[in-house]
Amino acid sequence: MPRTLAATCCVVGGGPAGLMAGFLLARAGVDTLVLEKHADFLRDFRGDTIHPSTLQVIFELGLLDDFLRLPHRKAFQISAWIGDRKIVMADFRRLPTLCKFIAFMPQWDFLDFLAEQARKLPNFQLAMSTAASGLIEEGGRIVGVRATGAEGPVEIRARLVIAADGRVSLMRAAAGLEVEDFGAPMDVLWFRLPREDDDPAESFGRVAPGRMVAMIERGSYWQCGYVIPKGGADELRRKDIEAFRESIAATVPFLSDRTDALHDWEDVRLLTVQVDRLKTWSRPGLLCIGDAAHAMSPIGGVGVNLAVQDAVATANLLAAKLRAQMIDDDDLSAVQRRREFPARLTQRIQLFIQKRVISRVLAADKPFEPPLALRLLEIFPVLRQLPARLIGMGVRPEHVRT
Ligand SMILES: Cc1cc2nc3c(=O)[nH]c(=O)nc-3n(C[C@H](O)[C@H](O)[C@H](O)COP(=O)(O)OP(=O)(O)OC[C@H]3O[C@@H](n4cnc5c(N)ncnc54)[C@H](O)[C@@H]3O)c2cc1C
Repeated sequence: MPRTLAATCCVVGGGPAGLMAGFLLARAGVDTLVLEKHADFLRDFRGDTIHPSTLQVIFELGLLDDFLRLPHRKAFQISAWIGDRKIVMADFRRLPTLCKFIAFMPQWDFLDFLAEQARKLPNFQLAMSTAASGLIEEGGRIVGVRATGAEGPVEIRARLVIAADGRVSLMRAAAGLEVEDFGAPMDVLWFRLPREDDDPAESFGRVAPGRMVAMIERGSYWQCGYVIPKGGADELRRKDIEAFRESIAATVPFLSDRTDALHDWEDVRLLTVQVDRLKTWSRPGLLCIGDAAHAMSPIGGVGVNLAVQDAVATANLLAAKLRAQMIDDDDLSAVQRRREFPARLTQRIQLFIQKRVISRVLAADKPFEPPLALRLLEIFPVLRQLPARLIGMGVRPEHVRT
């Protein structure tokens, strides 16, 4: 027999959306249990960017000073190298936020920080190594979650289940929610290479004919994201890794003396990119947020920020009702009404860039001119404030009201 637990709110997934939602709800007095299937947050494939509007939320929670004590790099601008030309694409220094920079920080540090703060709250529980496997439904209403934890099967009964289990959400599939898939022309190969003292001191992107690499500076090493055409990984992996090493060196020449740190394909991980959105984010008793509601493309590195903003909106709209145990279906729809527009607009921009820039770069076989929009950013620096706002703050930034 499975053990049975009860919580007012059970959050599935301890990523940025789930942990922030769990923290905010518990902080507002709601009995909350977060389930995370992994034993820790130490995974490489999560976004490393903490955006100005997320930093603003952390400030509003009174935690900014503590947070900024964690090792991080401040990026006041974001640049891309197209051939030999460096183009500054966004400048955050004039944003109307307290922090006018993106903090680059491994996401496990961010999640550990959130979990540590949340664990101080009496209403918060985090069950690590606990994988949700299905929903419990009674009379057309979701009333809980089935999961397997370290001590075996468990059933969690909850007034509300929040599915924050990411872009391959099992919970949204179990609920039968309809997904609109918008497609992506690329996947990403993810690997680390050593960093030397005289390397550039900032994260950046590099674009060459047929290739793009995102380089995230993580102190002693570079976290690299090498963009490949969708579904192209198997063909690449059939070849010797040497060809891949050469391609990295051709795109980012200063790495050429250390690409042999990639011993074989085991050192290179495939991240599949998808862009999709649920038509309806909720069912009675269940709400999807973050990538579970709208899987984001890595373009602009905005997915973490959107996930956090969804969590803030969820807590703002639902905490008092959950505390009073008086939540109804329209309350859940209110979260979609508030957050769908930011997700929809951001995805539309990502899809435009995927089609007009990424697809063309991946198909190109000779050097090309940067597109007009990028050249305008070069000529009129003031224009860099627009991408800065879109990337750094997002559409309709949320504020903590709980
Ligand atoms: C290649 C790539 C690079 C990216 N780079 C960036 C970037 O630099 N910056 C950025 O902001 N965004 C980036 N993104 C997007 C970003 O990763 C997501 O938008 C963001 O992580 C969404 O947060 P989330 O909390 O909704 O989901 P996730 O971060 O996916 O978290 C979901 C959590 O749920 C857990 N989980 C899943 N299933 C279960 C289950 N059944 N039971 C219990 N737990 C479960 C998972 O282990 C995970 O911890 C990138 C995406 C890709 C594909």
